[in-house]
Amino acid sequence: MDYAINEMEQEVLNATRELAQKKLKPLRAEMDAKEQFSNQMLEEYRKSGMMGLWLPEEYGGLGGGITCLAMAFEELSRVCAGLALTPGTTALGAIPMFLAATKEQRERWCPDVASGKKLWAFALTEPEAGSDATALKTTALKDGDFYVVNGTKHFISTGKEADFYTVAVNTNPSRGARGISLLVIEKGTPGFSFGKKEEKMGIRTNPTYELIFENVRVPKENLLGSEGRGLLYLQETLDYSRPGVAAQAVGIAQGALDETIPYLRTRKQFGQPIITFQALGHKIAELAAKTEAGRALVYSLTHRMDTEYLPAVKAALAEGTSVHDELKKLKGQRWTKYSAEAKLFCSNVAMEVADECVTLCGGVAYMRDFPLEKYMRDAKITQIYEGTVHIQKNEIITALIKEYAAKGDEE
Ligand SMILES: Cc1cc2nc3c(=O)[nH]c(=O)nc-3n(C[C@H](O)[C@H](O)[C@H](O)COP(=O)(O)OP(=O)(O)OC[C@H]3O[C@@H](n4cnc5c(N)ncnc54)[C@H](O)[C@@H]3O)c2cc1C
Repeated sequence: MDYAINEMEQEVLNATRELAQKKLKPLRAEMDAKEQFSNQMLEEYRKSGMMGLWLPEEYGGLGGGITCLAMAFEELSRVCAGLALTPGTTALGAIPMFLAATKEQRERWCPDVASGKKLWAFALTEPEAGSDATALKTTALKDGDFYVVNGTKHFISTGKEADFYTVAVNTNPSRGARGISLLVIEKGTPGFSFGKKEEKMGIRTNPTYELIFENVRVPKENLLGSEGRGLLYLQETLDYSRPGVAAQAVGIAQGALDETIPYLRTRKQFGQPIITFQALGHKIAELAAKTEAGRALVYSLTHRMDTEYLPAVKAALAEGTSVHDELKKLKGQRWTKYSAEAKLFCSNVAMEVADECVTLCGGVAYMRDFPLEKYMRDAKITQIYEGTVHIQKNEIITALIKEYAAKGDEE
C-alpha cells in the first residue's frame, strides 16, 4: 500500500531494498551461524549513506526524519534483523545525543555519525536495573572538569564495535532518579573495558556486551543537556526510537511471509499445492492483514512525528539551540502512548507471524538451511528490548488513566 511517502522516502525505500537484497542477503546465514559482526556490511552502509539518513545535511546526513529511519530499518530487518542493527543501534545511541546536544557537541559528533566513521551505542540497562531504569547504580561524580564514572552496564547492543556510548549515570545519587544524567563515553577511555559477550537466541550478528567502568574520567563537555534531566531525555529518545523497533518487527513479519508464501505455492501434498488448502491460505491472509495493520500504525505515527521533529531540527540549527529545547517550544504532542502502542502491536505481530509461518511450512522450516527459524529467533527480541511488552502496556495504561482523569476534571 502507498503510505503517501515523499520523494526522498521513496528513494530511501528503493535504495535500502536493493542494498538488503544484494548485499545483506548473501551474508546473513553465515554471520548468524558464526555469531559475528560484519565489517563488510558496515562498509556498505557507509558507502550508501545509510548511517546518516535521519541527520541534517549540514552534518553530512540525508536530512530525512523518523520515517526515513523507520523505513530503512523495516527493509533491512525484512532480510536480516541482526545486521540491520548496525545503523539501528547507532541511531539509538546517537538520538539522545542529537536531541540534547549543544551546537558545539552536535558539530563535534554528528558528522562522524552521518558518515558511519564512528558507531554509537545506548547503555541504560544494568544487572539490577532492567525494566526499572530508575534503579541504575552507575555513578558519575564531579571531580574538577571531569566526571568519575563507576559501574556496570549489561546487554548492550553493538558493544565493543561501537566507538561512542551514551551512558545513563547518576551524577547525584542522593537525589535518586532526579540525579540521572546522560554522558557520552568514548571507547578507549582509561578504565572503560568490556566484560562478557552474550551468546544469544537471535540477532546473533549484533554483539551484546557488558560494559565495565572503573574510575573512568569523562570530560564535563561530554554531559548531554543538564545534570539530573537524564530520565526526560531517555523518555524522549524512546518515544522516537520505539517506532523504529516496531518497524523492525514489521520487517521481520514481512520477511517471514516473503519466505513462506512462495514455499506454500510450490510444495505439493495430496497432489496439490499446499497453499490451496483453505486452512493454510486463510492463516496467511490473517497474518498478512496484521502485518499491514502494523505498518500502517508505524508510518501514520512517524509521519506525524516528523511534522514536529523536522521543524525542531531546522530551528535548532538556525538558532544554535538544542533540538530538545526547540521541541519544547513547539509544545507538541507527547508520543509515549502511541510509540508504546506501535511497539506492542508490531512486536506481537512479528512473533505470531514468524511462529505461524514455521508451522505452515512444516519440517523444512525447522531446519537451519531454510531462513524461517531465524526469523522466529529474531522476532523475539522486539518484544523485549527498549521495554518489554509489559512495560509498553504500563506506558499505555498510564497515559489512558491520565487522559480519562483529565476528561473527568473537565466534566
Ligand atoms: C539482545 C538484547 C539487546 C539489548 N540491547 C540493549 C541496549 O543496547 N542498551 C540497553 O540499555 N539495554 C539493552 N537491552 C536490555 C533490555 O532493554 C532489557 O532486557 C529489557 O528492558 C528488560 O529488562 P530485564 O531484562 O532486566 O528484565 P526485567 O526488568 O527483570 O523483567 C523481567 C520480567 O518482568 C516483567 N516486568 C518487570 N517490571 C514490570 C512491571 N512494572 N510491570 C509488569 N511486568 C514487569 C518484564 O516485562 C519481564 O517479563 C538488551 C536486551 C537484550 C536481550
